[in-house]
Amino acid sequence: MSDRRKFLKQVTAAAVALGWGSRNLLAQVRSVYRMEGAPGAETTISGKTYLYFGGTSYYTLQNHPALLKAGAEALAKWGMHPATSRLGFGNNALYEAVEKKAAEYFGTEDAVYVASGYLGNTAGFQALSAVGKYDVVFLDDDAHYSLADFVGVLGLPVIKFAHGDPEDLRKQIKANLKAGQKPFVASDGVFPTYGLIAPIPQYLEVLAPYEGTIWLDDNHGVGVLGANGRGTYEHYNLKSDHLLFGGTFSKAFGSHGGIIPGSRVFADAIRAGHIFNGATYSISAAAAASLAGMDILMQHPEMRTQLWRNARQLKDGLRKLGFAMNDTPMPVAAWTLKSSEDMDSVHTELMKRGICIQRSHYVGAGVKGCLRAVVFSTHTPEQIDRLLTALKAFV
Ligand code: PMP
Repeated sequence: MSDRRKFLKQVTAAAVALGWGSRNLLAQVRSVYRMEGAPGAETTISGKTYLYFGGTSYYTLQNHPALLKAGAEALAKWGMHPATSRLGFGNNALYEAVEKKAAEYFGTEDAVYVASGYLGNTAGFQALSAVGKYDVVFLDDDAHYSLADFVGVLGLPVIKFAHGDPEDLRKQIKANLKAGQKPFVASDGVFPTYGLIAPIPQYLEVLAPYEGTIWLDDNHGVGVLGANGRGTYEHYNLKSDHLLFGGTFSKAFGSHGGIIPGSRVFADAIRAGHIFNGATYSISAAAAASLAGMDILMQHPEMRTQLWRNARQLKDGLRKLGFAMNDTPMPVAAWTLKSSEDMDSVHTELMKRGICIQRSHYVGAGVKGCLRAVVFSTHTPEQIDRLLTALKAFV
């Protein structure tokens, strides 16, 4: 047996032992499929063009001409990146422009651009740990890796509460918070696998007797939810200094890099932190493309309504096929079948027919994993119907 095969066997055995999923994971670790271009409603994977319902490219801006042009021009002017941090000589007009436009986009006093959405959560926690206002972290049980792995930066006890469950949050706070202490709730705004939007208004009711705060990893909500595409809080029409969040430019905005909008004081606390000063920014092309992505989403609100319409068509169709679906504008749908093998085989059959959905083992997918389909604003109603018709053959 080759070393690589031995390694893959070990990885799979470890993953199965950890309850991460089925043998299908082995195929995923091996990267059987390789994308051969930008993601789009039609995407070329391993030499074949598929009707594509995977990933997070909600408006398929990743190869939009305006983003590509802005990126190419920025590379020519600025090179890849400054190769030093803001506290070195790394500040430049391009990064400043991203932060200024993001503050405008999100309607906040300021915003901080960091290397990725993943790092954005940690950057926020570092700033908050310096403030030292909170006593106990309450973390959603299905929170994204970037929250679960790094919330410890706050240096506080971490208590998990049942996924998306305000009553369990109430219970855990009652059981674990002492008189006068303040809770810090950390959750995804939108959970990536099932597209569930966290029930923030109910969390706020639970938090009302305490001076707590909520941090959202809103990487999937930004650009998609709310009247102006500002994310989960705007979806619920909420705004307050106690509602903090981090987002990304890598999904809806079509580019790359993390963004943390907020007050000037909070932004400056992040700028004084380790992540901001210890990690290189996203490359110049990503900064310039992020500016272009924000411009497009600000100027074309009809793209958002089209995305929501497509989400409704997909979820209504899946509901008709007998799968439980939430009724929100998030364009993400996931469901399970009886066994892992059933899901593996539906996935394989759809791939044979030129339709790509995900056989997901991502965070929140559970032990068996699930089937996950995402619609983009650029899918036509006929393309969504093609997926639904193909799925009908398996129910
Ligand atoms: N949080 C969530 C919920 C995600 O799904 C992802 C990306 N898949 C990230 C954070 C990381 O964002 P980025 O890729 O911009 O680093």
